[in-house]
Amino acid sequence: MITADFGWPIARSTMINALPYDVATLRACAQTIADTGRELAALGWTPATSSNFSMRLDATHAAVTISGRDKGKLGVDDIMVVDLDGAAVGTSARPSAETVLHTQIYRRIARAGAVLHTHSRAQSVASRLYSTSGVVRFEGWELQKAISGYTTHESVLDLPVFPNTQDMQVLVDAVDAWLDAGKPLHGYLIDGHGIYTWGVDMVETKRHIEAFEFLLNCELDLRRLST
Ligand SMILES: [Zn+2]
Repeated sequence: MITADFGWPIARSTMINALPYDVATLRACAQTIADTGRELAALGWTPATSSNFSMRLDATHAAVTISGRDKGKLGVDDIMVVDLDGAAVGTSARPSAETVLHTQIYRRIARAGAVLHTHSRAQSVASRLYSTSGVVRFEGWELQKAISGYTTHESVLDLPVFPNTQDMQVLVDAVDAWLDAGKPLHGYLIDGHGIYTWGVDMVETKRHIEAFEFLLNCELDLRRLST
């Protein structure tokens, strides 16, 4: 198989329709995204058509949910292809404005193969409580080990909180600044909004979002119980 330096397949046209990505790979990713959407919606983390999900297709493309769809009822036709600048490829569908936050992760983090963005109550409430400090710091929780690269509860796991804005470039710049400072980044909250996290594939990414959701709920419970 032809692969890019970091292991992702290089885009190749299909012989049938000359699209610049592999259609079979897209269908497989779209099915995985739809299945994941049903699971996350059932947990109540994607209210009112919010949230968006994506998977890397190859070195230069990603599959992402079309804006405005019910994330609990996604079909494969509710997933579109974008390039890594977030522009639609081979479709007249319009990607959501937040798509550039997904493609930024694929550009900046070579191992990232899937990105999940949800709006659970815990994510939303915690983002408001920790917006002033700009970070939720997890220390001493066993479940920090669910995040790839963390092998002990004695580690420190920082989840930054970036200010909310409708100007996606401001958010892209905030994420870039965190990464350019060389700080570990496995996910982030946006104030009053929700979470982004990612992993090498959808299995790891689901584990990460479940871990962050659990950890945020624990921190919120501690604050409730200690007042
Ligand atoms: Zn959102």
